Amino acid sequence: MENAKIPYMFKHTSHPRPLEGKHLQQIQHVQQGQLELIVGPMFSGKSEELIRRVTRALIAKQNVVVFKPALDDRYHASAVASHNGRSVAAHAVQDSHHIRQLLEGESPLFAAPDHSSNRLNNQIPHFDVIAIDEIQFFDPRVVELALQWVCLGARVIVAGLDLDFRGEPFSMVPELLARAEHVDKLSAICMICGAPATRTQRLIGGNPARFDDPIVMVGASESYEARCRMHHEILGTADVKDNARGDGISAGRI
Ligand SMILES: [Zn+2]
Repeated sequence: MENAKIPYMFKHTSHPRPLEGKHLQQIQHVQQGQLELIVGPMFSGKSEELIRRVTRALIAKQNVVVFKPALDDRYHASAVASHNGRSVAAHAVQDSHHIRQLLEGESPLFAAPDHSSNRLNNQIPHFDVIAIDEIQFFDPRVVELALQWVCLGARVIVAGLDLDFRGEPFSMVPELLARAEHVDKLSAICMICGAPATRTQRLIGGNPARFDDPIVMVGASESYEARCRMHHEILGTADVKDNARGDGISAGRI
């Protein structure tokens, strides 16, 4: 009956044997990939966090490649930049197909490093870390691409908005959130009350944008603020909310 006093978790545990020969080789060849997501509203420090992780990988002399959507040229055409001025080199690409071409095309942009022979099937990724900023601007096929890299042993770091300006889930980001090994949901500071902000407020001429405005506006004179759920405003949300408020302004989607 001595065994009855042993906690369940230890009952069936055998002594670990030292790794040698075939077993050690298997572990070296099957490198665990993982998908990491950094999400939150604008001004929550997503790019800053992505830059921090990429910089640590570079210090560790890992092979790193960073992509960003070509439409984002706020600071540098070929860098991911944070609002406080830090940056890492990045490749501005049109879509997920463009990324695939650069990594896997007949004449891929990136040559395989010498130690890539340890990779499964000696295929892509030749990189230990693949990072993508502003993921919400990519096409949904980027999900499949990211998961392929993870299965091949890469650490994939993705940053972007989880909600659009209306407070609605942004494109394929919810699927990435569900499939990720690690998720960090960052908050900013509400510009109205100072509480943690989880929403991005779009303003047109100082007024809240309309619910039926396009998700991505090009050339418009809009501005953005971080807001909490209570102070996130959107014009013409849903009929129920318009009627309830009587002024056509809703305090965001719940
Ligand atoms: Zn607030």
